[in-house]
Amino acid sequence: MRVAVFAGSASGVSPRFREAATELGRGLARAGVGIVYGGGHVGLMGAVADGCLAEGGEVIGVMPRSLVEREIAHRGLTDLQVTETMHERKAAMAAQADAFVALPGGAGTLEELFEVWTWQHLAIHAKPVAVLDVDGFWRPLLDALDTMTANGFLKPALRATLLLAHDSASLLAETKAWRPPAPKWEGGLDPAVPPLP
Ligand code: AMP
Repeated sequence: MRVAVFAGSASGVSPRFREAATELGRGLARAGVGIVYGGGHVGLMGAVADGCLAEGGEVIGVMPRSLVEREIAHRGLTDLQVTETMHERKAAMAAQADAFVALPGGAGTLEELFEVWTWQHLAIHAKPVAVLDVDGFWRPLLDALDTMTANGFLKPALRATLLLAHDSASLLAETKAWRPPAPKWEGGLDPAVPPLP
């Protein structure tokens, strides 16, 4: 099994964020679970990769060429895959993962999280998506999702698919118990519509 990890390219203000990222990487490796992530050695991205590598885990990094220098690619990975575009990066990460988890991060982390979560709703894939909470970091986002649900913009059954984990053990337990929801549109996607790249 391999988990795609989305995480901030910054470390955040509190040392708790780095600790949680490192511990997630360590815990996944100890459970025999590999990581695919954005390939950087900076911020929480680097911390989760280092944690996994420190326990002998498999870490695949996927980074667009334009970011290899700017986002400072991690040179100690099991495999560093360089893509031409950001879209290819995200597709490669998604294809190689069995589940997705977002650690605390910024706008880039949110973009990656919402792409895989909404694609799950559209039945483009059937893989679990989770956020890993650190000291209530995701609470305002989860509250915003509940506001969308209360106002009729997000179906309760789809809101419920976003898993909330607290460490590697609860992440693995939640993802194993997860079952795909009924797709957002009855009958799934229109077969006449070509799949998105
Ligand atoms: P951030 O959370 O903003 O620090 O970004 C974390 C990760 O998201 C980094 O690996 C970025 O390369 C990636 N990222 C940033 N912007 C985007 C975007 N528009 N689409 C996909 N990934 C992004």
